[in-house]
Amino acid sequence: MSASEAVTDTLRELHGRFAGVREGQPADYIPELARAVSDDFGLALVSMDGHAYGAGAADTPFTLQSVSKPFVYALALTALGLDEVTRWVGAEPSGEAFNAISLEHGTGRPANAMVNAGAIVTTALVPDTREAPAFQSILTCLSRFAGRKLDVDEGVYGSEAATGDRNRALAYLIRSTGALPVDPVAAVDTYFRQCAVRVTALDLAVMAATLAHGGVNPVTGERVVSPEVAAQVLAVMATCGMYDSSGDWLLRVGLPAKSGVSGGLIAAGPARFGLAAYSPLLDAAGTSVRGHAALAALSERFGLHLMRNP
Ligand code: GLU
Repeated sequence: MSASEAVTDTLRELHGRFAGVREGQPADYIPELARAVSDDFGLALVSMDGHAYGAGAADTPFTLQSVSKPFVYALALTALGLDEVTRWVGAEPSGEAFNAISLEHGTGRPANAMVNAGAIVTTALVPDTREAPAFQSILTCLSRFAGRKLDVDEGVYGSEAATGDRNRALAYLIRSTGALPVDPVAAVDTYFRQCAVRVTALDLAVMAATLAHGGVNPVTGERVVSPEVAAQVLAVMATCGMYDSSGDWLLRVGLPAKSGVSGGLIAAGPARFGLAAYSPLLDAAGTSVRGHAALAALSERFGLHLMRNP
């Protein structure tokens, strides 16, 4: 069997193994996300030579939600550099839920860029000018990571904008400590838009593979971010990407990862693979149940645990 047949077989086998899992619930605090089809389940893998593999609903569109956070963090790091970004948002695991009031004592600086508080600040750091509006730069950056032109699901954006008071409250709270450099309403609106960018599991695997490939999209060959920025983003994903289950994930799965409440999940095996899953049934930490199980199994199957000496 060729290596590529082995990957396809593995994805199909894991899809079959976990498709019947019925635990978890779609997110419903953003009403539009509650309409997701519970049975949808897609897996995708992209190798460093740009081969893309999928199983199940790998082409089904859904919104990025928090999976946008590492990529917008990459954009802010590229624009401002690590030292300046770190003045505004930290890199410490919060051990808290995605929407927690996770602000450093004294400075008001959010714990990290993977929780909502930190992601709102990261979005606010993206340069915003008349010629290059922040959201345009974000959409262009996300599209370059995916290797195709992405768009916004206006229904999901409108639904989150109508119900996102907790995120607005977080933004006002951060500004009250002097730790948000821009207007909270504008920052949160851009953040809602980035969360509503539409992708598929295959797109996510290409995006993760771009980080794993040192910032070069392995499908298009385009350099999207520097190797330094790709490594910085992967480091923060490894310690903070899975919210209050980040430690357990790193222990068991051993890969930088990021989950989102629409059911998207990415993991990156540096210099090996970009992995992605989509299934909207979430566990209590807001991570896709089937996605978690399948990516953990993929990591084990391909020996991807970063702490392991093969
Ligand atoms: N847009 C969501 C929110 O801000 C993202 C959360 C997530 O995916 O974990 O609540």
